[in-house]
Amino acid sequence: MKFQPRASHFIDGEYVEDTNGTAIEVIYPATGEVIARLHSATPVIVEQALNSAKNAQAAWAALSGTERGRILRRASDIMRERNYDLSVLETHDTGKPIQETTVADATSGADALEYFGGLAASLTGEHIPLGGGDFVYTIREALGVCVGIGAWNYPTQIACWKGAPALACGNTMVFKPSETTPLSALKVAEILVEAGAPKGVYNVIQGYGDVGASLVTDPRVAKVSLTGSVPTGRKVYAAAADGMKHVTMELGGKSPMIVFDDADIENAVSGAILGNFYSSGQVCSNGTRVFVQKSIKEAFLKRLSERLDHAKIGDPMDENVSFGPMVSENQMNIALGYIEKGKAEGARLIYGGERIDRDGYFLQPTVFADVTDNMTIAREEIFGPVMSVLDFETEEEVMARANDTEFGLAAGVFTNDLTRAHRIVAGFEAGTCYINTYNLAPVEAPFGGSKMSGVGRENSKLAINHFSEMKTVYVSMNDVEAPY
Ligand code: NAD
Repeated sequence: MKFQPRASHFIDGEYVEDTNGTAIEVIYPATGEVIARLHSATPVIVEQALNSAKNAQAAWAALSGTERGRILRRASDIMRERNYDLSVLETHDTGKPIQETTVADATSGADALEYFGGLAASLTGEHIPLGGGDFVYTIREALGVCVGIGAWNYPTQIACWKGAPALACGNTMVFKPSETTPLSALKVAEILVEAGAPKGVYNVIQGYGDVGASLVTDPRVAKVSLTGSVPTGRKVYAAAADGMKHVTMELGGKSPMIVFDDADIENAVSGAILGNFYSSGQVCSNGTRVFVQKSIKEAFLKRLSERLDHAKIGDPMDENVSFGPMVSENQMNIALGYIEKGKAEGARLIYGGERIDRDGYFLQPTVFADVTDNMTIAREEIFGPVMSVLDFETEEEVMARANDTEFGLAAGVFTNDLTRAHRIVAGFEAGTCYINTYNLAPVEAPFGGSKMSGVGRENSKLAINHFSEMKTVYVSMNDVEAPY
């Protein structure tokens, strides 16, 4: 098998296998063929990985930030050099078109390694003068062993978005990729070692939810960063709370995108396409509730349908293909179930709606119009290529409806009215907002959700605060005054 790794896990700088673990078959979503066979981590493997991370941590934290940063930046360079091969692997793991994976996966991972590698040398505490000559200084310290748990939509990116800030701060990591897409995190681990990361600094173990759960509850673990669904987030957050562990939760969404009648329709349609159909709709921040002002609704829908006719659906390894399969048969069936619900609840299907008659898990890009706020497709995260278009008349009305959701990951507005754009984003209950664009997530900017969509932020300087803590040192320059 072309994509079979040397072994399932990467621990202490080496590939490690334990065939007693439950089998994991890696399936190429474009054909349904098995491209690798792995094993879920047994308790022995979990133990090895946590020990390795624990043993490596003090020495890693004792390096200067400059030295840690250099290793991360070297890893970033290697990832960029191997971008095409890593993209081919990512395409086979996820089914995403090579057109996407060559620009949004290993490159995004490399950005994180480069950015946090650059920051590593400047992570410091501060000096706080007090009255009478006393002062406090703070020391920024690593948390210890961090656990990363990934979703299947951006496996390389997630492995790096968690690993890079963790390592920059002097932590070590045990990363568990999604069981659906286990391959590329192993490459990230290999590359880090090649770049000079000491053994045990970044370990990868495979497994289903039970392996994730056993990592979260282990007393050696100081922090858990999860990318996944809200139900999993609830469980992981609760388990971490028991051990008073730090958490970052990057969870699901049902984000609104509002298109006012003064917007550039071509740009708004582009935003809606990017925010619903990129990666076959399997993006957490997608703007799946598209509120369109009534006066431009038909014009918007017409242009949207015309543009969707140009989507090139097919073999994701063909560089001209812009729309690939869904990640798995299961995920495709979930999306098909929502499409049936949309029809049954009275939404107007105006585009797609069917499975495509070919091997693999291909679903047509699908658009429902006349969706109302209480329909299931407007309330629940589908995580597939299904866009709901809802009408609105006034700004006040749409603001309230946009926020009427338990989620708060992202939100967007298209308008040419400058003050309205800023008024709208000020009112959005969401962690990541867009004005006249959608779904960009550069490493320099904080990314994350409010409400049920998560806790904490990834990327940007803020991520540093989620992977380190301050030690306060009070220094007295005076005699100690005691009452007796
Ligand atoms: P999921 O919640 O099913 O699984 C996520 C990960 O958690 C997997 O690795 C899984 O094995 C693990 N897991 C499951 N149960 C666990 C438990 N009890 N303890 C510890 N780990 C456990 O999510 P998924 O289907 O892989 O991914 C899709 C979801 O991820 C969507 O809801 C999507 O919105 C979300 N997502 C969020 C972001 C973000 O940045 N906010 C990014 C991508 C995906």
